[in-house]
Amino acid sequence: MSKQQLFDAMTASQHQFASIAKDIWDHPQLGYSERYASTLQQQTLKEAGFRVSANIGEVETAFVAECSSGSPIIGILGEFDALPGLSQAVSPTLEPLEKDAPGHGCGHNLLGTAGLEAVIALKKYMEEHHIEGTLRYYGCSAEELLSGKTFMARAGVFDDLDLVYTWHPGTFNMTTNLSMQALSSVEFFFHGRTAHAAAAPHLGRSALDAVELTNVGANYLREHVPDGSRIHYQITNGGLAPNVVPDNASVLYFLRGKNRAEVDDLLRRLHLVAEGAAMMTETTVTAEIKAGCYDTLPNLTLNEVMYDNAQLLPDISYTAEEQAFARTLQQNIDPSVVAGSKASMAQMGFQETTDLAQGFQHIPQMFRIPMPGSSDIGDVSWITPMGQIMTTCAPSAVQLHTWQATASFGSSIGMKGMHLAAQIMAGAALDSFTNPDIIQKAREEFDRNRAGITYKPAIPDDVKPPQPVA
Ligand SMILES: [Zn+2]
Repeated sequence: MSKQQLFDAMTASQHQFASIAKDIWDHPQLGYSERYASTLQQQTLKEAGFRVSANIGEVETAFVAECSSGSPIIGILGEFDALPGLSQAVSPTLEPLEKDAPGHGCGHNLLGTAGLEAVIALKKYMEEHHIEGTLRYYGCSAEELLSGKTFMARAGVFDDLDLVYTWHPGTFNMTTNLSMQALSSVEFFFHGRTAHAAAAPHLGRSALDAVELTNVGANYLREHVPDGSRIHYQITNGGLAPNVVPDNASVLYFLRGKNRAEVDDLLRRLHLVAEGAAMMTETTVTAEIKAGCYDTLPNLTLNEVMYDNAQLLPDISYTAEEQAFARTLQQNIDPSVVAGSKASMAQMGFQETTDLAQGFQHIPQMFRIPMPGSSDIGDVSWITPMGQIMTTCAPSAVQLHTWQATASFGSSIGMKGMHLAAQIMAGAALDSFTNPDIIQKAREEFDRNRAGITYKPAIPDDVKPPQPVA
């Protein structure tokens, strides 16, 4: 049997998936409310003969699709949520489609659809060639809120996997050997006593004072935390008017660090700060954990399998129109960002021949170097060995979570990168079904690197996932 057959069949049907990705791009919805994308993907998978279970971990838009049976069990992760305020046309100049509306500035319209493309093609190939095993697609909700997969993990849906593959749209083609940061998100709600701020201030106990003192304490805490930690906050309720002592106020925190234990300790210390602020102001405080995800644990064995598959595929070729789109888009990015991005790409060995990066890099020396930012894929990577790549879906220097990214991920440049990622994931999954050594080696590496740490969700049992916004 020839893997080339699988790749060729995928190329023949790529337009179907480009139109699904564009359809999802045209209907951007925020995390936990991605009903359009979730329904479209579930329907497509059912039509292709997959068994679909929805409402995973009480997340309405999360689902698992499965075909065949028995061992091994190999998964592919997909996402489909958008970001607020990033509405943008497929245009190289700023042109929101709808003011303040969401947009696919992280390319999750491509992320999920590549997984769909991979599993649908692979299912057909496995049937034709009598390949044994269970193939799964995970429709994961709310990655941007850093918690969709944690709720799914709490429901146990990743526990029986032998291994999993995923990817992320980016500005070059490369295996992902870096490690993203662990994160906790917590909101503190302070309750005090209201009063007329001028006539009877002595009777008031300001919840806003407690919020401000918490922030002062957190800002002093910064000096005494491990290197690379990040503490960000947003006042979510600061009271209603200056002349009314606020009896309710709240503040939302993100804490990041290089691993789960480090963030757990930051969280413990921040709780002490908030309790101290409550004591000082004679208010009370309650805390709600919103998210808690792990750092990502890359797997070099699986990343090498993905790299080997990338070597079997030709470079993406771009039309003159796509090249022109890339150049104009880059002119709308700060020149220092463009220069910085070109320098770091040259350092990683990419040839500076085009504004759209070609070639495919695998740099094992980057293994587990901490990278700023977090993702709930971290949770999955501590449950089962995970391979991950990124592909060129936007011109170099385009930053994720910007209008330039939304424009690229709706364009044919994004679709071409998605198709390449789908082929690599399908090829890597096929190798994993047919070569038991891959699973064994990936497992051994996984066990060695997790060094006795067993995954336990960082969201408390009593915290329920948010409900969709109608
Ligand atoms: Zn993303």
